[in-house]
Amino acid sequence: GLATIPKAPADFLMGLKKDFLADESTQKVALVVGAYRDDKGRPWRVPAVMEAEKRYFEDSSYFKHEYSPILGISEFTHAASQVLLGKDSPALAEGRVCSVQTLSGTGALHIGALLLTRFLPSPTPWAFVPAPTWHLHRQCFEHVGLTVKDYPYYDGVTKSLTFSAMESALRSAPPGSVVLLQVCAHNPTGLDLDEEQWRLIVSLVQEQRLFPFLDCAYQGFASGSLTKDNLAIRLFIEAGVEMVIAQSFSKTMGLYGQRVGCFHYVAAAHSDAPGVVERVASQLAILIRSEMSAAPSYGPRVASIVLNDSELYAEWERNLVTMSSRITEMRWKLRQELEKLETPGTWKHLTDQIGMFGFTGLTPAQCQRMKSKHHIHLPSSGRMSISDLNTANVARVAMSIDEVVRW
Ligand code: PMP
Repeated sequence: GLATIPKAPADFLMGLKKDFLADESTQKVALVVGAYRDDKGRPWRVPAVMEAEKRYFEDSSYFKHEYSPILGISEFTHAASQVLLGKDSPALAEGRVCSVQTLSGTGALHIGALLLTRFLPSPTPWAFVPAPTWHLHRQCFEHVGLTVKDYPYYDGVTKSLTFSAMESALRSAPPGSVVLLQVCAHNPTGLDLDEEQWRLIVSLVQEQRLFPFLDCAYQGFASGSLTKDNLAIRLFIEAGVEMVIAQSFSKTMGLYGQRVGCFHYVAAAHSDAPGVVERVASQLAILIRSEMSAAPSYGPRVASIVLNDSELYAEWERNLVTMSSRITEMRWKLRQELEKLETPGTWKHLTDQIGMFGFTGLTPAQCQRMKSKHHIHLPSSGRMSISDLNTANVARVAMSIDEVVRW
């Protein structure tokens, strides 16, 4: 039996959550989870999505509780691919894309990794992930048997991207290796490649014959523009590279728990692309069927209403601007407060970064003191969920940072 099963370590965010719940201070603040909050610290129901839910419940024509098809609801997956790649993407026009519904972005990472371990030519390739990266990348990949290696991404001293080190590490990656690239709003550093750097990576991937695995969890959430945020994807498509992409609507539609996302396979630009796409889809159907039979339907149907209605789509684009600009505002506010206090160090990096997280540069000991002395909870990496900042708490967070930095 399982009597001797070893106890597994808790997920690192779970431990933080427990500490936060146990903290009895009325002043406590958690800057931990990547879930958007409004200026009152409340979850924000995205207005376009709320309207879509209303329409979903008003419309009695839906077979609402029937199974979704194995590969997902096609109105949803098709519209999702248009958002991700761009409506006029040559890859869509040339039939080079296959899009399937997954258990949000995490499920897409999983199904993608599984597909690659099963069908990339053996031996199973290495998978390269940025150092640091979202902790589930490594976990998801190792779970299906990939050997995970780091490539340099961030320098803690200069608080900037280590692009040339990243480039040379990938240049020495064995051909056939999988390389995970975050499309925008890099978690946890908030630092993305610029256009020129992306172009260099696209060429390098082609020259080295690496297999790109793109992770897109924040499209529109980083800059407020869906088109600006998918630049990396468009550059890979332009080059005709074969790749896979994990797409999540958790943050962008505020549908976290509904698990709304897709996995996309994009075939290389060659004459047999539609044939490859068809065969990949047939294998994905087996993997998905074996794992979950079919994906959930409520969240994707609601998302589909937003994506397929021009008015709601335009509203959603405005909602993305609302979320991303409040985050930018909080970055500036925190930086200004720290500069006002003349907190030792520089704080420009807070506004150079983009997306949900701020990589503060606080040390593990300083983060510990933030919690024990100031009741402000953040992981020991110093990653701060920026949207947990608001007009009521940002000054106190800055004062606490000031105290721990001088300590
Ligand atoms: N990738 C990255 C980089 C993320 O930060 C997240 C969410 N934290 C995801 C993927 C996937 O999230 P979900 O499974 O909720 O879509």
